[in-house]
Amino acid sequence: MLRDKITKKIICGNWKMNPRSSKEAEKLFNDVVRNISEIKKTNIVICPPFLYLDKVKKISKKIVLGAQDDFPGDVGAFTGEVSAEMLYNLGVRYVILGHSERRALGENDGDINKKIKSSLAMGLRPILCVGERERNDNHDYFNLIKMQLEDCLDGVSKNNAVKIIIAYEPIWAISSTKDRKDATPNDSSEMAIFIRRVLFTKFGKDSSNVKILYGGSVGEKNAEDFLKDGGIDGLLVGRASLDAKKFSQIIKICEALDK
Ligand code: PEP
Repeated sequence: MLRDKITKKIICGNWKMNPRSSKEAEKLFNDVVRNISEIKKTNIVICPPFLYLDKVKKISKKIVLGAQDDFPGDVGAFTGEVSAEMLYNLGVRYVILGHSERRALGENDGDINKKIKSSLAMGLRPILCVGERERNDNHDYFNLIKMQLEDCLDGVSKNNAVKIIIAYEPIWAISSTKDRKDATPNDSSEMAIFIRRVLFTKFGKDSSNVKILYGGSVGEKNAEDFLKDGGIDGLLVGRASLDAKKFSQIIKICEALDK
């Protein structure tokens, strides 16, 4: 059973600030649920905006809920914030942290580090996003990813390290990036090996159980290639997760491969 949990692949949908209404959120969630009745081996996570979580959690237990951020503090005078504890108490089990769109709003590795620690303390599994804005011939982006990992995971214990999921999301490949380019499974695989090496240096052999996802314009057409050859344990899906058909297709592709 434990082994099963360790080997299962993860398909995680990040709805970002979509859709426009709670009614549409329920419909989207329902449409995915309707399409995945046969799925047994794939961990499916959906991360809607905070205010839809309570609505969609009633629809199905087959999909585990994630949040797109949280606040590293206890209850108190933090206007506008939502804590890891509140999310856990609502039934949320994952939280995306350090997404490039939040980093672009000013969040830094120190902030993300605090959020990771408080999320772990409250029982949430952080999905830590790392990724470079661009690549150059000097391969400086490897150093950047190493720094992001080291700073965001500073002070995290070995026991907790295995609960963290790393999402490699090259910003230049994300669907909303202007003049974006396609990343290849080879780009993903090379970076997954590098990330594993950094994690091994920091946490030792237990880090081999840390799951690594790839994210960046994954759809039903390229999901199989990334899952087969990207050296990863699953996918973080943005735009395509807003289309129930496409997202369900990605889940089915993963299920068929995950023998
Ligand atoms: C993301 O921004 O996390 C992401 C993976 O987006 P997309 O799939 O739309 O590129």
